Amino acid sequence: MPQSVLVVGAGPTGLAMAAELARHGVQCRVIDKALAPSDKSRAIVIQARTLELLSLMQLADEFVMAGNPVSAANIYSNGKRVVHLRFDDLDSPYPYLLVLAQSETERILGDRLRQLGVVIERGVELLSLSQDTEKATVELRHTDGHTEYERVDWVVGCDGPHSTVRRALDVPFEGHTFDQIFVLADVHVQSALSDTELYIHSQHGDICAIFPLGGGRYRVIADNPPGNLERRDPTLVECQEMVNARMSVPITLSDPEWTATFRVNSRMVKELRSRRVFLAGDAAHIHSPAGGQGMNTGIQDAVNLAWKLALVCNGRSDPSLLDSYQSERYPVERSVLRQTDVMFRLAGASGGIGAFVLQHVAPLLGSLDFVRHEAARHVSEIDIEYEHSPIVKDHHVPSGPRAGDRAPDAVARLAPDGATVHVVDVCSRPQHTLLVIVDAADQVALADDVSRKIDALYGDVITAVIVSDAVTSRDETSTSRSTRGATRTPRSLRDEYGSTRPTMYLVRPDGYIGFRAPLTASADELMQYLAHLMPYRPGATVTV
Ligand SMILES: Cc1cc2nc3c(=O)[nH]c(=O)nc-3n(C[C@H](O)[C@H](O)[C@H](O)COP(=O)(O)OP(=O)(O)OC[C@H]3O[C@@H](n4cnc5c(N)ncnc54)[C@H](O)[C@@H]3O)c2cc1C
Repeated sequence: MPQSVLVVGAGPTGLAMAAELARHGVQCRVIDKALAPSDKSRAIVIQARTLELLSLMQLADEFVMAGNPVSAANIYSNGKRVVHLRFDDLDSPYPYLLVLAQSETERILGDRLRQLGVVIERGVELLSLSQDTEKATVELRHTDGHTEYERVDWVVGCDGPHSTVRRALDVPFEGHTFDQIFVLADVHVQSALSDTELYIHSQHGDICAIFPLGGGRYRVIADNPPGNLERRDPTLVECQEMVNARMSVPITLSDPEWTATFRVNSRMVKELRSRRVFLAGDAAHIHSPAGGQGMNTGIQDAVNLAWKLALVCNGRSDPSLLDSYQSERYPVERSVLRQTDVMFRLAGASGGIGAFVLQHVAPLLGSLDFVRHEAARHVSEIDIEYEHSPIVKDHHVPSGPRAGDRAPDAVARLAPDGATVHVVDVCSRPQHTLLVIVDAADQVALADDVSRKIDALYGDVITAVIVSDAVTSRDETSTSRSTRGATRTPRSLRDEYGSTRPTMYLVRPDGYIGFRAPLTASADELMQYLAHLMPYRPGATVTV
């Protein structure tokens, strides 16, 4: 009997969760209390790491075509540029921030769900939730007023900041709400600003941020509006006055599509799992939009949890595997929350140490190439790693990425046919990929033996791939696949994965390296690792 999963909430987190589960062969139920998706732009930044994960779902190209790639961020303090951060040399097939309205993100994910045969049940609200040793019981209210009770194996609460799932679990949402009020306007802008760069101006502690949406339209965010704007949306004239007071270059706003005010919260839960129930996205963490990380963190939560839940639902792994969702995602979420808090306070500092850092330390650090490069990697989230995860195992290899790191792209030669491939492409199946890197004929024979062993025991969940160095990294397959924005030529296998051969990398379905070791004839370490990760034969029945 297949295990059942209920995803509560069809925002970006719930849609990504359901799409990933479906890609892994688990059909879930998705409900949302809203009758229709929101048409508001809300989150507009998609980070490079999220695009890399969307490429696993074969969706990155569609996102890139729909969005506006932004190649640099500029931070000004009192009219002087203190930071210029470039993204175009990012070590990613997507070397930019992609600006795209959240309504479009939800449309693309929703279309993919429909293609995968998953129906989003709209107008269905979760009212209550309880769980026992057997299952979770949910109470659902439909728009016609009737109430349904259902027993499900797993519930994923992707129901946003006011999460009913979180309240049902009685999990505290600890943190604070900042006093400042922010004004947001999606408008047409006439100015000399580049439409492929974003701008943050801090003028004596008042902030104005401008993001290019493409086609002459921009998202403008400013803080500390005059008067009391808490209970109504700002007018275009009020937005223009705020921008004039905060920007050192003239810009003219017109044709507002959406204006709103909001306050910034900084809150998160301590536990992401309670037996059969998980929290993901804004249901688990909310923070300042500074840095454009909120929605990205939610989508990445979903991708992290989905493959693990699929292995459990398909009877391959023990439910204890699901505890690694907490071990891996909680530190990432906590660090996003802390850093967005710091950025938020720094940008709004009108005096004291914050202003000093912004005006004097930031320009100094920003002039160092190394610091700029690391900062761009950090903002784009490609430096997220799970090195300390309990389900990651590294057997020392002198060079190359470690277990827990994201598996970087590289151009390689596939055995036995010699085709030139991208590592990210060969690792994009909804399975683990055992990447065996060799450079001599006797090593290929050894790799073949291990591949056969893996295929016999784990053929349903792991694909073994033998690769060696490509003759050249500059052939026709080596350019970036992204069709807009900056492109980056992927590096060679040797550059990215080092020169130690033969080596095994077990790449997880979420693109992170779960296991690394030198290849040996016995492959004992790998077999022990897998016996732990996937202890059951296909289709086994497991209990929580
Ligand atoms: C003005 C603004 C600007 C932002 N800018 C950015 C940005 O640039 N970058 C970024 O990454 N993030 C940004 N964010 C944050 C981003 O919008 C959120 O992080 C994102 O929407 C979270 O997605 P989610 O799916 O977790 O939750 P939500 O989008 O809140 O979706 C939750 C869904 O659950 C449904 N639901 C709720 N309760 C129930 C229930 N009981 N039963 C059934 N369904 C239920 C809701 O109807 C909703 O559809 C911004 C937010 C705002 C408000």
